[in-house]
This record gives sequence, C-alpha cells and structure tokens, in this order.
Amino acid sequence: MSRALCWIRRDLRLDDHTALAEATRHAKSVAVVFVYDTQILARLVDRDDRRVTFIHRSLDDLDGRLKAQGSRLLTRMGEPAEVIPRLSRELSVDTVFANHDDDPYALQRDQSVGQTLSRDGRELKTFKDCVVFERDEVMNPSGNPYSVFTPYSKAWKARLTPADVAPRTPDLTRLCPESDLPAARGNLPLSEIGFVSNDLWLEPGANGAQDRLSSFLAKIDRYKTDRDFPALESTSGLSVHLRHGTVSVRQCFREALAREGNGASKWLDELIWREFYHMILAKFPHVVEEPFRGEYKSLEWPGTQAAYEAWEEGRTGFPLVDAAMRCLKATGWMHNRLRMVTAMFLTKDLLVDYRRGESLFARWLLDFELASNNGGWQWSASTGVDAQPYFRIFNPILQSRKFDPEAAFIKQWCPELAGFEPELAHWPHDAGPIEQLAAGCRLGEDYPHPIVDHSIQRQLAINLLSRKS
Ligand SMILES: Cc1cc2nc3c(=O)[nH]c(=O)nc-3n(C[C@H](O)[C@H](O)[C@H](O)COP(=O)(O)OP(=O)(O)OC[C@H]3O[C@@H](n4cnc5c(N)ncnc54)[C@H](O)[C@@H]3O)c2cc1C
Repeated sequence: MSRALCWIRRDLRLDDHTALAEATRHAKSVAVVFVYDTQILARLVDRDDRRVTFIHRSLDDLDGRLKAQGSRLLTRMGEPAEVIPRLSRELSVDTVFANHDDDPYALQRDQSVGQTLSRDGRELKTFKDCVVFERDEVMNPSGNPYSVFTPYSKAWKARLTPADVAPRTPDLTRLCPESDLPAARGNLPLSEIGFVSNDLWLEPGANGAQDRLSSFLAKIDRYKTDRDFPALESTSGLSVHLRHGTVSVRQCFREALAREGNGASKWLDELIWREFYHMILAKFPHVVEEPFRGEYKSLEWPGTQAAYEAWEEGRTGFPLVDAAMRCLKATGWMHNRLRMVTAMFLTKDLLVDYRRGESLFARWLLDFELASNNGGWQWSASTGVDAQPYFRIFNPILQSRKFDPEAAFIKQWCPELAGFEPELAHWPHDAGPIEQLAAGCRLGEDYPHPIVDHSIQRQLAINLLSRKS
C-alpha cells in the first residue's frame, strides 16, 4: 500500500489544503507531520514568543481534528533535513508532500530536504498554496515582474479564473490510522520545545479563523469607510491566520469575490497587496537585505540609538506613535494605519534605518510575514517598490486627529493622557499648567516632551532622501 507524508509548515489546517489534497490523491495512507524547526526556534529572542503559542495551540486543534478522523498529528523537533528523511524511512513513505514557502531560508531548507530524500530514492513534492498566483505567474507584457501595484493588480484580476480559487479538498478517509503511526504522536508539550505560553488576543486554529472570517464578513460593507480607524476594529484581523495557514487564502478570495460593493472590492485589493509583496520577495530576494531601489543602497541613516529606543518603548512624546508601539508590545498586533504612521515616524522623523524597525516588527508581530513586513517598511521609508514618494511624509498629529478623532485609541494605550480632551490628547504639549493639573498629567514627568520637531525633521528627511547615491 503506498504511503505518503504531508509535511505542514505555514498551512496549519486540513481543509482546502493543496499538499494534503495531492497527497491523498497519490497515496492510500497519508501521515501528517509538523517539525518544530530548531533553526527557526533558535533565532527567536523571547521564550514567550506569541507565534510559538499560536502555532502550538493551532497544532493542538489540528491534532484533535485528525483524531476525530481516526488519525493523529506527528510532531518532531530538530532540523527538517534530518527529521523528514528519518521519519520517511521509519514510515516507508515514497513521497513527501508540502506547500511552497518562498522565504529565502525555507527555499534553502526545502532544497536540502529534497536532496537528502532523493539520496534514499524518495521525493519531496511541493505545491503553490499560500497565494493564488506566485513567483512569475503574473508578469507584465514584456515578461518582467511588475514593480507598481495597480497594473499588477489589474493583471492579477484579468488572469483569475474560478479554478484558481476553487477549494483543494483532501480525501480524509486516506489519513493514516492512528494504530499505524509511531508511538510518539500528538503535539509535543510547549516546555519540551523550550518555550512558555503567552496570552493571545485571538483564537488560534481553524475554528478561530472561521469565526473571525464570518464576523468580518458580517461587517465587510463598512470595510472601505472604516478600515483606517484603529479604534473601530473594522478590519478582518485575519493576517495572523493567513500567515500560519489556519485559513485558506483561496477561501478569503472566494468570499470577497462572491460579494458586491466597495467593502468587498477594497478587501480584495488588500489581499492582492499580499500577493504582490510575495511576488516581489520571490523575484527580488535582495530586498531582504537591501533597499529595493538601488539608489538608496549606500544611504546612511543618521538617526540615533536614543531616538530608536524612545520609539521602541513608546515614549517619543507623539501620542499616536507611542500608543501604537505600546499596543504592539503588549499584544503582538498593530493596525495597518498605525504600522504606516510608526514606520514613517521612525524613518522620516527620527531618520533611523528602516531595517531596525523592520526587525523589531519581525520580533513582535504575531502576523509577521517577511514579504509583507519588508514591503510595508520599504513603502514607508520610500526605498521600496511602488513606495510612498519621499517628500510625502505623514504628519503624526494630523494622522491622529483624522484617524483617531476621539483619541480613544490613544487613551487606551497612553492612559496618562486619558484626562485630556481629544484635541489635547492628540498634542498634549499645548496644555498649560492648569489643563495639566485638571487632566492629572504633568508633561515631562507623566508623559514625555516630544523628542523631535516634526517640521524640522520632515525637511531633514527630504534632504536625506533626495540626495540619492
Ligand atoms: C510597516 C508595515 C509592516 C507590515 N508588516 C506586516 C506583516 O509582517 N505581516 C502582514 O501580514 N502584514 C503586514 N503589513 C500589512 C498590513 O498592515 C497587515 O496585513 C494588516 O494590518 C493586517 O490586518 P488585517 O488582517 O485586519 O487586514 P485586512 O485589512 O482585513 O486585510 C486582509 C488581508 O490582506 C492582507 N493585507 C492587508 N493590507 C496589506 C498590506 N498593506 N500589505 C500586504 N498584505 C496586506 C493581509 O493578509 C490581511 O490579513 C505591514 C504593513 C506595514 C505598513
């Protein structure tokens, strides 16, 4: 009887799953494995990293689903290039099925797993799954990658057929029965992986994803108008599930395409931004280390360590920036508008290299995704593909008045400003002694003075970025 292994990585679900569907088509018995990759775990700084908690709890959920089908999840810890070939021998599988992961490390890892397997006469087969169109599937008429979003998005939509988003349904009757699996099955305890659990603001696993998707779809009509207001919680919050594959991106696209109206079409565009940045990472992998735009390659950002630390710790004296950074640190989440505001503040007001902010987001974001994080940072720093022009710089106070008009978000995360009227909460530095007394907030003591003058820094940023090499 032919046996296969389905190696799950960033696709922690059983439904609408390309590799699992292919594996159950190919083999009569399919075992599902997840490897806690020691190379990835070793790079994580925090023992209570929320991503590990999210993955661990999603795998508990997946194991429960496999158990309900008469099978179990296998989890192992180690280097995939050793673990996968060893397990394949143990289970006598001929083929290992997995979905593509185009992060540079993952490509290298898969190449070495594939080589080791082939020395044993086995094969690693990988499939597109985490995006609808990948790599060079959407190219411009001259056959080159797009570097501007709007024409890319038009071409993406023109190429789309229903088959591209149709569900890839696995035959779950072909899952390997529990009795045929090795004794070491189920999810490893978190402590054995060397981590401790952390609080999550959202429910992990496929159920968590489906609940979140349906509650978002009930309000999708307001998405276009409300999506920029952090206090409204009007976006889907699905990025974490998309990152870990607890929801299928095809399902998200099917839901968006099945609806009419500005809300659904705006959401469709956001999902296509994700595809765009995945394509950019695959076609221009130099963006991981360097600016997309070559003219900024040797740019030296003059921002200081002290300025960086004030930004990281949420004590710049700019309330919206501080509130956003404190929210990120406390929850692992930041609203898209605030990601743009804080990234632009670090690069254009504090003149700090975007890579420092990018790597802090990579450490703290629960939805951290190399392609979108790099794309978002390079957009904000004006060094990237289809980036914000360097002379268009957000004014953090105007952003605050416009997108947090009641200062509700600011007051949630900077409680020392809660006693001020909204106008002063946006810019408390205008408060006189009596207003400070009435609000119970002494500037310079309870809340910091601004560390820079926005209008001066704005000009310095324009000078810096117009002086290309
Ligand atoms: C500096 C910066 C860093 C970012 N880092 C990440 C990151 O590490 N991981 C990440 O998934 N997104 C990142 N983004 C994009 C965006 O902020 C998040 O995808 C979004 O806030 C997630 O919230 P949501 O799921 O409620 O989005 P929704 O508004 O509901 O959008 C639906 C989905 O579309 C995708 N999407 C939306 N906006 C973007 C965008 N601008 N770029 C790419 N995909 C998008 C996401 O997958 C999102 O879940 C970053 C943006 C910036 C400016």
